[in-house]
Parts: sequence; structure tokens; C-alpha cells
Amino acid sequence: MRTLHAIRSKRVVTPEGVRAATVRIRNGAIEGISAYDDLPSGKHVYDAGDSVVMPGLVDTHVHINEPGRTEWEGFETATRAAAAGGVTTLIDMPLNSIPATTTAAALKAKREAAHKKCWVNVGFWGGVVPGNAGELRALYEAGAFGFKCFLVPSGVPEFANATESDLRAALPILAALDAPLLVHAELPGPIEDVAKKIAKSDPRKYKTWLASRPPAAETKAIQMMIGLTREFNVRVHIVHLSSALSVPLIRRAKKEGVRITAETCPHYLFFASGSIRDGSTVRKCAPPIRDLRNNKSLWTALEKATIDFVVSDHSPSPPAMKCLKAGDFFKAWGGISSLQLGLPVMWTKFSERNFSLRHLARWMCNGPAHLAGLEKHKGALAAGYDADIVVWNPEKSFIVRPKLLEHRHKLTPYLNEPLRGMVEATFLRGEMIYDRGRFLGAPHGALLRRGER
Ligand SMILES: [Zn+2]
Repeated sequence: MRTLHAIRSKRVVTPEGVRAATVRIRNGAIEGISAYDDLPSGKHVYDAGDSVVMPGLVDTHVHINEPGRTEWEGFETATRAAAAGGVTTLIDMPLNSIPATTTAAALKAKREAAHKKCWVNVGFWGGVVPGNAGELRALYEAGAFGFKCFLVPSGVPEFANATESDLRAALPILAALDAPLLVHAELPGPIEDVAKKIAKSDPRKYKTWLASRPPAAETKAIQMMIGLTREFNVRVHIVHLSSALSVPLIRRAKKEGVRITAETCPHYLFFASGSIRDGSTVRKCAPPIRDLRNNKSLWTALEKATIDFVVSDHSPSPPAMKCLKAGDFFKAWGGISSLQLGLPVMWTKFSERNFSLRHLARWMCNGPAHLAGLEKHKGALAAGYDADIVVWNPEKSFIVRPKLLEHRHKLTPYLNEPLRGMVEATFLRGEMIYDRGRFLGAPHGALLRRGER
């Protein structure tokens, strides 16, 4: 494997802007960014030409289901997909593996399962579930980056949703630890109210699925979370924000100094309900993909920094569980696979808007790094940061074909979509791990613990 001393390009994305530069690397970290022609003599240099040199993506919302449901997705396949997509650090969600990551012992089992299988750096969120408040401190001290909870059923029996009273037991502990709580923000009430009304509607129609998860479920959950954030002075992060009707609530809360942040996902920004065919369960996720007007408002919220960043929510299942033949949205698994495709999906949509490479780095590198507390050494190309780097060609287009995908299952709503932006090479601590479809060496991504470098 080749350890580099420098990468140079006409387009290097630095915190100050995009310019021709040389990124100098030493002992796996960035030593400095110097002039384009300032090449270290007699050393290994990767010349990226006109391709973009950017910090590796940080994806804080990935479901790797190993151990326990490795047939859905495992560390080896997920992290290959990450490397091929320019993601150099990911944080795994605490559910869909068995055990769920709700105790320090479960975190240990996760780390053992991941050992020597990860092509990129992997960290872990813990989970808040009913009755595990007594486990949270030990789980955090064992290296979990923070905690995730659901306010509605999660889809798997071993990760129960939390009620307000469960949260009231957990939040003082999280406040004392200053650990972030990531929230799947939908409340059951509005969903149950609608369920009676649509009981006789066709479950194959996307319209029925969309109606079953009303925006009110999100706004009411976010209202409740803003209240609790204020009361307990905790850090709360809303995952996969789907309804733009919640945006004003978050904007106001932020203005008042409430410690709340939010993410959305590429699929909410790329697709809109009007173009989802009935029976197309490959596009099922919860909360659902909403209409075009909502889609446009999410882009605006991102631009105005009410939504802080974009992460994949890569949540695969075996293809049979997506019920593609029956096309029943209510029986299908609610999850979308996209870990490898986030960068080109976003860049493709950028071409319709006036967003730049700096927006991309903010929304997919620096922003998520902040949530995980990694912002001092990941998510930017600057002196002292880890040399986790992606090189990609923003002008090159391709069509998503199954053979390009490294995920365990080649099922994704982006299949056959033409996308712009081709990842060429990925570097982990200055070592090339991925080169135009080839993986180099053996997996040696770090298993990260909060607070450790
Ligand atoms: Zn998720």
C-alpha cells in the first residue's frame, strides 16, 4: 500500500475556499496546505489533475446490521460501499443488529464483530430504550458517541420506542454527560388517528403510504423535543427530517438558543412523491418522501442552515423484505440503501441550484463531524486534520448499475438513475484504499471511540 506525502489538484476544497493547492501529509495527518507547485521533492505525490480533492465524507447515520442481521448488511460490505462513495468515517446506528447497542456489553459485541472488517473508520451510537437509563453512562464511557431513540415503533422488536416518561428518565443523565440525543421524531398519535381513516385504502398506492405518516406526527414530536431540550438543557438532534412544516419550529428554537440540530437525507432532496409509482416500495422510508413543494423547502432550509447537514440513513434489508412483487407499502421494510451514492446524488441536484463545493463539504463532511464531536480532526482539509480524503470528478456522469454497488444487496431507488460526480480515489490517513473500482490492501479502518483520536 502506498503512503502518500502529498496530493495536489487544481481544485482543493479548504475551509477558506476552493483553489489549486498541494495537501502535504505526514504520519497520516495533514501537515499543511501549500501552493500548487510546492511539491516535496523525491516523495510520493498523487496528482489529481483537475479532479476535486475534498475531505472524506462523514456519514453519521448508517445501519450496519452485524452481528445478528448480517444478511441485511455487514461491516465488510457497508464499509466497502463507503470507501467507494468517498465516505471515510461513518457512525453506526444502535439498531437492527442483535444485540442492539443499548448496553456497554452490546457495544463490545459490535466492536468485536467489526474487528478487521472495516475499510473506513467506524464509530457507534448507543441507544435509549425503555428501561436502560441505568446503562447509559457506562455505554458512553465505553466510547459510544451519543444516543439514538425512537418515538414510534422502530421496525425491530429489540429496539423499543421511548415515551416521554422514558426520556424524562434518560435526559438528566445525558445532560450530565453532555451527550447528544438523536431522535426519530414522529409521534404515534397523529399516525394512529390517520390509520383509522385509511384502513380501507389501497396499500399499494404511494398516496396511501404518504397519508399514513402525516407531517403532524413530525411537528408534534419536534415540539415535544424542543420543550424537553429546553427543560433539561440537553443537545438534541433530529434525524432524517422529512416535513418542511417542522422547519419554522427548529428555526425559532435555534434562534432562542435551544441546543437543537437537524439533518435530512439525500432521498428527501432527490425524489418527490409525484414521481413515485404505486407499488414502488424500493422508495419506502419513514418518515416518507413528500411532495415537490416540500422538497424545495427542505433545500431552502438547508441553505439557511436550519437543517444542518445531509447523511444517508443507509438502512438496507434483504430484497424479499422490500415486498417488490406485492408492492405493499405497509408490509415492506422501510429503509433506503444509498451509502455509496450520497455524494453524486447531492452533486447531481446541485447542478439545478447555485450550490458549490464548499456547500457540499459543509453539509456532508464538516456538519456531520460536528454532531459526533469529530470536528477538530475530521471533515476538513486543514493542518492537523486526519488525511482522510476523497478525490472525485465533478464533470463525469454515470448510470447507477448493480455491478457498481458494493452494498450487500444491490437494491436502491437510484438504480438506473444518471448521476454526476464520480469518486476516483479514497485515502484513509494518507493511504490509498480505493482506486477507480479497486480496493487496495486489507481493511484497516479505525474503530473509533468518542474522545479518542
Ligand atoms: Zn435510520
